[in-house]
Amino acid sequence: MTPPRRLDTYLTTLAIVGVGGLALVAFATPWSTVSTQLLIWPTLFLAVATIAGEFKPIHLPTGNFETRTMSTSAPFVLALVGTAGFGVAVFVQVVASIADDVHQRRDFRKSIFNSAQYTVSVLVGGVVYSALADPPRWGVPVSFDPEDMIPLLVAGVGMIAVNWLLVAVVVSLAMAQPLKPVLLQDLHDYLVTNLVLLSVGGIAAIMVDGGAGALFLLVPPVVAAHLFADSAARHAHDATHDSLTGLGNRGQLHHELARAFEATDNSGTDGPSLILFDLDHFKDINDTLGHPVGDQILRHVAGQLVAAAKENASVHRLGGDEFAVVVRGGLPEARHMARELLASFDNAVPVDRLELLVRASVGVAAAPGHGSDGETLLKNADIALYHAKLERDRISTYSPQLDVNTVERLQLLADLRTALDTRQLHVAYQPQVDLIDQRTVGVEALVRWYHPRRGLVGPDEFIPLAENSGLIFPLTAFVLDTALGQLASWRALGYDLRLAVNLSARHLSDLALPAQVSQAAELHGVPLKALVLEVTETGILSDPARADVVIRTLRSRGVEISIDDYGTGNASLSYLKRLEIDELKIDRSFVSDIGSDPHDLIIVRSTIELALALGLRVVAEGIEDEPTTRTLRDMGRVIGQGYHLGEPSSAEDLEVRLRAERTTAVSGKPARA
Ligand code: C2E
Ligand code: MG
Ligand code: MG
Repeated sequence: MTPPRRLDTYLTTLAIVGVGGLALVAFATPWSTVSTQLLIWPTLFLAVATIAGEFKPIHLPTGNFETRTMSTSAPFVLALVGTAGFGVAVFVQVVASIADDVHQRRDFRKSIFNSAQYTVSVLVGGVVYSALADPPRWGVPVSFDPEDMIPLLVAGVGMIAVNWLLVAVVVSLAMAQPLKPVLLQDLHDYLVTNLVLLSVGGIAAIMVDGGAGALFLLVPPVVAAHLFADSAARHAHDATHDSLTGLGNRGQLHHELARAFEATDNSGTDGPSLILFDLDHFKDINDTLGHPVGDQILRHVAGQLVAAAKENASVHRLGGDEFAVVVRGGLPEARHMARELLASFDNAVPVDRLELLVRASVGVAAAPGHGSDGETLLKNADIALYHAKLERDRISTYSPQLDVNTVERLQLLADLRTALDTRQLHVAYQPQVDLIDQRTVGVEALVRWYHPRRGLVGPDEFIPLAENSGLIFPLTAFVLDTALGQLASWRALGYDLRLAVNLSARHLSDLALPAQVSQAAELHGVPLKALVLEVTETGILSDPARADVVIRTLRSRGVEISIDDYGTGNASLSYLKRLEIDELKIDRSFVSDIGSDPHDLIIVRSTIELALALGLRVVAEGIEDEPTTRTLRDMGRVIGQGYHLGEPSSAEDLEVRLRAERTTAVSGKPARA
């Protein structure tokens, strides 16, 4: 029989037994004796308390990062068993259960199950009590004496044991888990709480003779138990949930993963899977728009993910701007859901009067291929996420190949952190030469890393790592400070040069950049007009509104802006001109081939013509031979940069060059080109 069929059979059987039990109680109870001997007010009190116990359950924190709600009707029903007979007790309990089900709008099937389960368990308790009490009393109210206490408590234990068993069977069938672990789960807490409640039931039974007034004395301790349990549950919730978004936290994620693994192990299907989300450039949003806005965005994203996640998924926040979704399904389901969740990011997030487009990168790992426990799945989803961030691949799925690359890159990133602190980074200077009068008019500062084991590591290898980790900020600060210090020394020696420094896209979203640049220049006593900051078209287009503000502010302070690698991005020259820039650096991929590729020659010639006509300074990068130099010189006043004119070199070597140029200028010989 399939698990759902077994569950149906069980529920149907229980419902039939429940109805049978109810009929038995109705016929077997000597109602006429009950009506004459019943103490009306105490019975009414206990009946109301039973209903209240159903409506207001206790919330108990469990060892499983969850809270279990537990009805507190048991002690009062037990007191009714002892004082009014099990007939009355069963009917009061069933009425209380139905009333609560209606109030909670529970599903009809669930309501039938609740009533049947209560009928059976109270009936078992009643029969045990009737049999053990001396003399036996089959459903008839008899005055409750202290000697009746032991039989009543034994009956209570029987009642809760049957109840526990009936519920555990449903959970085991519904979750396709073996019965034993379900029975043992939280058993200790359940037993302790119920023994306390049952003793309240015993006290209530003894106090029935004192009338409803005496029973009222039980109200304060029961209310206190509720309050304590609620506060414990609240603390447990706080410890397992993120206070900002209300989502489960990292601890809860581990628990959820373990549970999902158990469930799939038992069902023999693929999965579970894990999807990790990390918001792109969230730090910039926080830094520029403030933490309240950052919080607002995180809450919005959390809500968005919860709304977009399917029923078989649970969303958690790992901290910062990282979210995790556990999917009870294999890789195809996980990838499909990752795409859907990511699509929910296409709508802008309304923040105050702004509409912000928040982007995220996604890493996916799925069992059994990518790990057979939560720990491994989390590690591998993290590697996939890291890869997604680096490659700007929005969704990346784990593969062992990624692992090798990522470990290497992570190592390099860790080393880069150390490099920044231990002076392994240096700045090289590449001359920029005026092609017409053949003099060095500027230098470009290019960062160099002398790695203790790997030797020289190129910027193309580590700049992307720095950009993705945020290390680009201290890195640029280092280059700016070093190069401005060097420029100050050259200026003191009478060399009037322009200094070009490269910026990354992330700097163009940083509204604090202009002030930092001013401070650095002031520190070294260098005028801002000697500084050229190189940005790329893609850098501008990734956040045009903020880039516009940053660029305008820098220019208003005298700093010049250059478009680096021009021609490799998508921006039109007229768009860039509107932004107000000062210089265009034509990318070396066009320049180095103008001798052999007529198309490149046309592109370079027309770009230079247009840029000069627009009043921009033009720098041609990647000049590798003399014919290229000559061709470019004939195109107008172009500044050249390239290995043929001078490779990036140390400050000392550059100074030798400058000195030589000065000497030749004085002696009238042409400068070296
Ligand atoms: P870029 O800004 O376009 O820098 C020019 C690159 O071209 C430099 O490579 C330079 O060595 C190389 N180069 C110069 N002349 C020639 C030539 O004639 N032929 C060829 N094939 N190449 C030539 P480098 O130093 O490896 O830098 C690569 C890129 O790394 C730079 O491209 C820049 O985007 C980035 N970078 C370098 N330093 C920094 C820095 O301090 N901050 C930032 N954000 N990026 C930097
Ligand atoms: Mg550059
Ligand atoms: Mg360039």
